[in-house]
Amino acid sequence: CTKQTSENSMASPHTDLHFVLFPLMAQGHLIPMVDMARILAQRGAIVTIVTSPVNAKRFKPVIDRAIEAKLQIQFLELPLPLDEVGLPEGCENFDLLPSHAHALNMYSAMSMLENPAEILLKTLCTPPSCIISDSGFPWTNNIAKRLNIPRLIFYGPGCFAFLCMHILTHTNILNEIETNSEYFAIPGLPDQIEVTKPQAFTWGKGDSKETTEIFERAQEADKDSFGIVVNSFEELEPKYVEAFAKAKDKKVWCIGPVSICNKSFNDVAERGNKAAINGHDYIKWLDSREPGSVVYVCLGSLSYVSTEQAIEIGLGLELSNFPFIWFIRNTTDEFERWLLEDGYEERVKDRGLMVRGWAPQILILSHQATGGFVTHCGWNSTLEGVSAGIPLVTWPQFAEQFLNERFIIDVLKIGVKIGTEVPIVFTELDKSKIIVKRQDVKIAVQDLMSTEEEGEARRKRAREFKVLAKIAMEEGGSSHRNMTLMIKAITSIKEVAKNTKSVIDV
Ligand code: UDP
Repeated sequence: CTKQTSENSMASPHTDLHFVLFPLMAQGHLIPMVDMARILAQRGAIVTIVTSPVNAKRFKPVIDRAIEAKLQIQFLELPLPLDEVGLPEGCENFDLLPSHAHALNMYSAMSMLENPAEILLKTLCTPPSCIISDSGFPWTNNIAKRLNIPRLIFYGPGCFAFLCMHILTHTNILNEIETNSEYFAIPGLPDQIEVTKPQAFTWGKGDSKETTEIFERAQEADKDSFGIVVNSFEELEPKYVEAFAKAKDKKVWCIGPVSICNKSFNDVAERGNKAAINGHDYIKWLDSREPGSVVYVCLGSLSYVSTEQAIEIGLGLELSNFPFIWFIRNTTDEFERWLLEDGYEERVKDRGLMVRGWAPQILILSHQATGGFVTHCGWNSTLEGVSAGIPLVTWPQFAEQFLNERFIIDVLKIGVKIGTEVPIVFTELDKSKIIVKRQDVKIAVQDLMSTEEEGEARRKRAREFKVLAKIAMEEGGSSHRNMTLMIKAITSIKEVAKNTKSVIDV
């Protein structure tokens, strides 16, 4: 029996619901859903997160701390049938795949989890009241139906990107655009948003027959969902929240930025994975810098940077003349050789920190020395930058990242483009060279950090969003209220189901 007996003491219990969360096995999905689990548990709910053993192990310290704080959270481990799909042992997260071309094998493994997941859910002492599922698990829809409980969906990105995707997949606009280089305005949006066909196309329709089928299956299952939970906040994208809910004809609850729920040093420093260096060492390094002077560079959990590209980034940062902290996810022997031969690290050691591995991102973003963020425009990173009140250099690569770039530049007006125009096919990331030249890096960073009027205006807007984000998550704020409304809606469904059952029993 997997029932937790601890009582929630952080917040007075508002609910006796049991939420079961199914995050996709990727950091950009697991991280916000683990935060979401904590927020639900702080409201008194029991929360079960279903994931594979390697992912459960990665997040164990976070969950152990939550349990210590008397939150009723647990992992339920569901092994992935890696053997059956030709994936090596331990490849249980998109960031652990031998190559990005194995993404489809991962999707195949995930699609086989319906039966084992249902059997596991039936072992729970407290029956689930609601499933919150990543859209990438369409089969959770079947389980929710059989258990007669509502299924909410979580996609990852914000309402702006989803509204764009909805329009792009429900109109003929993409067929009308003849070339891949032409910019066109996405019709029916509250703002003038222009993209090229590949920028709009890589996401929502898939980039191959197989990925298109994955998207279609997810969209079909999503039609039955009771509502959509979004890691965003209403004040950030008010027109888009409303238009997205209308387009989907579903309830949309914006409950973020969920990263703000991480308050203690350990929760901030150890979010998602073990950081490459002890959090206190970063603080020491950042403490020695002027406020707002440091550029933080991190291209997410999946982006791939070739040796050539890493060299250009390094030289561009050096040329910019700003202090920087740069995280490299996938260093290569070739790159390490270049570093030695070029004497790069020695040259920049007084103002540059280069780290191979996992960044404690919100720890760095929330430090007063950090003044700019070079991001790949993943939605979580975008929102974490916004929550920290920091302007962004935008370097989108794949998925909905080009749409997020448009949101940062055209709607929020808190960013500077690095200048990439052509998306990379996700399954071919490893082959990508994507050369953004050192001059492009230098110019974008200098522009972002500039104290001229435009730079100051960007910085001011970014700071305003930080305040709004914080208020949204506080009691009485929009995201706090939306969480209450979502819990109430699920409670009502549970009550109706209970009453119907007692009438039948009589
Ligand atoms: N992240 C981190 N350290 C890293 C890389 C990523 O903490 O070195 C976190 C980041 O804070 C964010 C998530 O991983 O919460 C990445 O999600 P995002 O949507 O930004 O991009 P993805 O990795 O999915 O492309």
